[in-house]
Amino acid sequence: MTINRRKFFSNTTMSAAGLLLGANICDDGLTDHPVASSYNYNIMKEVMKYRKIDCHTHIWLSDESSPELQLDFADRLGIEKLVISRPITEQDAPHQAFVDSNNMIIKAKKQHPDRFIGQFTLNPKYTKESLEEINRCVDKGMVGLKVYYQTKINDPLFYPIIEKMIDLKMIILMHSYSGIGRGGYRTKYGNLYPKESTPEDFVDVAKRYPEALLQFAHLGGGGDWEYECKALKDYPNIYVDVGGSNNEADVVNYAIEYLGEDRVFFASDNSYYQSVSKILAVDLTDNQRKKIFFENYNRILCKGGYNVA
Ligand SMILES: [Zn+2]
Repeated sequence: MTINRRKFFSNTTMSAAGLLLGANICDDGLTDHPVASSYNYNIMKEVMKYRKIDCHTHIWLSDESSPELQLDFADRLGIEKLVISRPITEQDAPHQAFVDSNNMIIKAKKQHPDRFIGQFTLNPKYTKESLEEINRCVDKGMVGLKVYYQTKINDPLFYPIIEKMIDLKMIILMHSYSGIGRGGYRTKYGNLYPKESTPEDFVDVAKRYPEALLQFAHLGGGGDWEYECKALKDYPNIYVDVGGSNNEADVVNYAIEYLGEDRVFFASDNSYYQSVSKILAVDLTDNQRKKIFFENYNRILCKGGYNVA
């Protein structure tokens, strides 16, 4: 799939209304609007200015989502490294399905070792096999765990896995969600999937394992992000990524306000343009953008000795 620059530009500006206000669109040859030219704001210069680690992306979730397609997006947005995984969505998948999935990550990583950071996936229900699989994947250079909703993150089945990840000093990226409040009620147990991890589940496990590194996935994933930020606020070992295809205004600055500028990661969850532009669209300092795009996640990688130079 190719997207020409004009299409890319219009997608980007559409996903972050407001950015266009300051864009020096004359120079980009898209229009000769007389007012915009006086602002001297070059959006692509801003996009390319920051080093970026995208800490939540997937390959081969469909036949179209090849590693090369992800790199094509990344190249155009100045994303140096992509943390890739391939979670299994079926509830009853056998352990072998997780192994096969991890092998697809290992293969992609081998093909593009300078661009991909690989995460393994597993179902903790297969405890012994999963612990062996972690060893195998770490030996192949993978860094971190991505898990889905076969088991809640605070299920005792997860304890040995979490302890292993603590030993490795690697982060656990868990799919997460909190239903939108309706009629004055939080739909805390009303999520779409019964074993989906809620903010309360994260808090429970963060209290039990304060040394675990936990990543609450995609604040832009369609859940009640205001509630999520408030619920996670007091647990410094829970980090959030702001990826996802839902891009209401204020997600990024709200997360910073509640969690602080050191616990927020840039990520796309494969919604690339939106995820870069929503950070640029917020009024942050240069230093805050550097932290969110790159430094915060690199600090996590550093703990396990896998940081990007
Ligand atoms: Zn995802």
